[in-house]
Amino acid sequence: MSEVIDAATGSLTQDDWQRRYAGALMNTFGPPQRVLVRGEGCYVWDADGNRYLDLLAGIAVNALGHAHPTLTGAISAQLGTLGHISNFFASPTQITLAERLLALVVDGGAPAGGRVFFTNSGTEAMEAAFKLARRHGGPDRDRILALQGAFHGRSMGALALTAKAAYREPFEPLPGGVEHLPFGDLAALEAAFADGGGRVAALIVEPVQGEAGVRALPPGYLAAAREITSAHGALLILDEVQSGMGRTGTWMGHHLPHIGGGVVPDAIALAKGLGGGFPMGALVAVTEEAATLLTPGQHGTTFGGNPVASAAALATIHVIERDGLLANATTVGQHLRTEIAALDHPLVTGCRGEGLLIAIELAEPVAPAVAAAALRRGYIVNAVAPDAIRLAPPLILTTAQADALVADLPTILTEASAA
Ligand SMILES: *Cc1c(COP(=O)(O)O)cnc(C)c1O
Repeated sequence: MSEVIDAATGSLTQDDWQRRYAGALMNTFGPPQRVLVRGEGCYVWDADGNRYLDLLAGIAVNALGHAHPTLTGAISAQLGTLGHISNFFASPTQITLAERLLALVVDGGAPAGGRVFFTNSGTEAMEAAFKLARRHGGPDRDRILALQGAFHGRSMGALALTAKAAYREPFEPLPGGVEHLPFGDLAALEAAFADGGGRVAALIVEPVQGEAGVRALPPGYLAAAREITSAHGALLILDEVQSGMGRTGTWMGHHLPHIGGGVVPDAIALAKGLGGGFPMGALVAVTEEAATLLTPGQHGTTFGGNPVASAAALATIHVIERDGLLANATTVGQHLRTEIAALDHPLVTGCRGEGLLIAIELAEPVAPAVAAAALRRGYIVNAVAPDAIRLAPPLILTTAQADALVADLPTILTEASAA
């Protein structure tokens, strides 16, 4: 602990902190499950000294786990050299990162002419995507298509793209023109274009819907979506905020052959895993046309592309490559899905997902009780839907760590069904 943080921190308990939280933080999240004080690798510790295997990684964020020495080293070094400069200026880290991302995001290499806009979050990346779609559209192309179940963020623009009524309704009217089509339904997509297709500015989709409970687009959907958007002059924008940056065992979720192998979208939104735990997002315009839609003065940010955040992202990409973490996500993810699906427990009906973005399918809507029982036994998981538990662990998760969960899962499930 540094002199800046309360010196008494070490002596306070969970309960002390919960009381202080309730008295100081706006109640948008409900009470926190635990107050965490430290992390290392795939583990975190709470204020009472209990250890947890972190299988959520700050919601698909901590790709390298906690306190990774290469990441903390890169962040500290950058902060000690040049921390923040605004976008009146540029830094070598920011420029290098933009070049790295342009090389990563398209399977088999990006077409020339792509450009990056940096943000601080996924919401802001989607807000930029919304503005990109509006610029592409103009008054004559006022329709933006998204999918049912979509989650794209909570700012007014991103919320307009998000499907969930409970998130939207308290804040209406939202920016207009957005239509939500049935998930993965090609006939519905074709119908949306058949009727006024020339007025569609963009189709915006997650290759794997995260918040909707880890649902991958069906095979063939993205390829067909690319064809139909191109034919009608509409943009195809992918929200890879959760599914990108190695989470699925490939750099982007849409690089998986059965999801979107070979598809070249117009733009891709990134965040979550991008900074390895440091707030960082990006909208990567892949094609030259998309890259030139926002002209000088039409969009901006004070922090976006900040040198420290850029250094964090560069370090994260470096370690993912150096340590073979894409392959690790593929193998450990496959292992987890196979082992969990093979569990002989009445509550488990299956296990779906890609790489290390996984949902345990439950026979009954008891996911919150399962997550609570898991936490008591030292595992952080997420009740992403009433009947689904989401796992989005660090990409450094080992098979042995995965096996620890598999071994304890029957007890956890039984405890949850008794609750
Ligand atoms: C989390 C998420 C967002 C929003 O990102 P924030 O960083 O929370 O603003 C947008 N889209 C998808 C697919 C997400 O999973």
